[in-house]
Amino acid sequence: MIVGTPIGNLGDLSPRAVEVLGAADVIACEDTRRVRQLLTHCGISARGRLITVNDHTEAGAVPGVLERLEAGETVAVVSDAGMPGISDPGEQLVSAAAAAGHVVQVVPGPSAAVAALVVSGLPAGRFAFEGFLPRKGRAREERLAALARDRRTTVVYEAPHRVRDTVADLLVACGPVRRIAIARELTKMFEEVWRGTCEGAADHLAGTEPRGEFVLVVDGAPEPPPPDAGAVEAALRTLMAGGADKRSAVALVAAQMDVSKREVYEVAIRLS
Ligand code: SAM
Repeated sequence: MIVGTPIGNLGDLSPRAVEVLGAADVIACEDTRRVRQLLTHCGISARGRLITVNDHTEAGAVPGVLERLEAGETVAVVSDAGMPGISDPGEQLVSAAAAAGHVVQVVPGPSAAVAALVVSGLPAGRFAFEGFLPRKGRAREERLAALARDRRTTVVYEAPHRVRDTVADLLVACGPVRRIAIARELTKMFEEVWRGTCEGAADHLAGTEPRGEFVLVVDGAPEPPPPDAGAVEAALRTLMAGGADKRSAVALVAAQMDVSKREVYEVAIRLS
């Protein structure tokens, strides 16, 4: 059983999560001290049922967990906060247990990504979850460039000591007027959601040393301006004069000019 736990406010632990944690033969967790606190909060005894499964030990823990499942035991998997598997261990256990034919169920709980997305006020109809961006180098640049082009809202996790750098990089990649929300310490005492532009966000964070847990929610790239019919027509003429058939010329121009194939096709029809 994959069990979601609170991202701050213990009141968010669901009654079903309490029931499942109370009944499990084993609870796989990142940090035994943290989960003990949670269990104590809901009056459940750990009774020697805790095993540690963190980023470093997850792969090695898989065979032992599979053996327990084979023996008919119930294993609950929790992470330090939120949903296991979301920038947290859990994925390998689920994948191995499912591949071995075991029933894997979920007790859904809070996740900072979804909580930040819905409170950001930014479009939530389609979104991308980026987790933590690569820390540096080409991998980071490429991911920022892809994020800047993406039309979907993107959710980014960040540590307090890196959030200023990341907002500065988002400002460069997405431009000053792209909308962004900074969700901090959600469900906790110092919960705060700041909404504005990338430029405003950099100013907002400049004042004081950022503290707490952060999620950045970045608006999608704006829709491109309507295609310039003259430019589309000229590009089609050039390609077709060079021997390209209508279908491939339409596909190429649509890709090159970031215009829908349907719109390019309409221009191509007028030409022929
Ligand atoms: N599994 C978790 C989930 O479902 O949200 C995420 C774990 S990840 C290791 C931790 C990151 O989640 C933090 O660095 C922060 O970006 C985000 N986060 C977790 N709790 C948060 C909270 N209460 N408020 C804002 N962000 C939070």
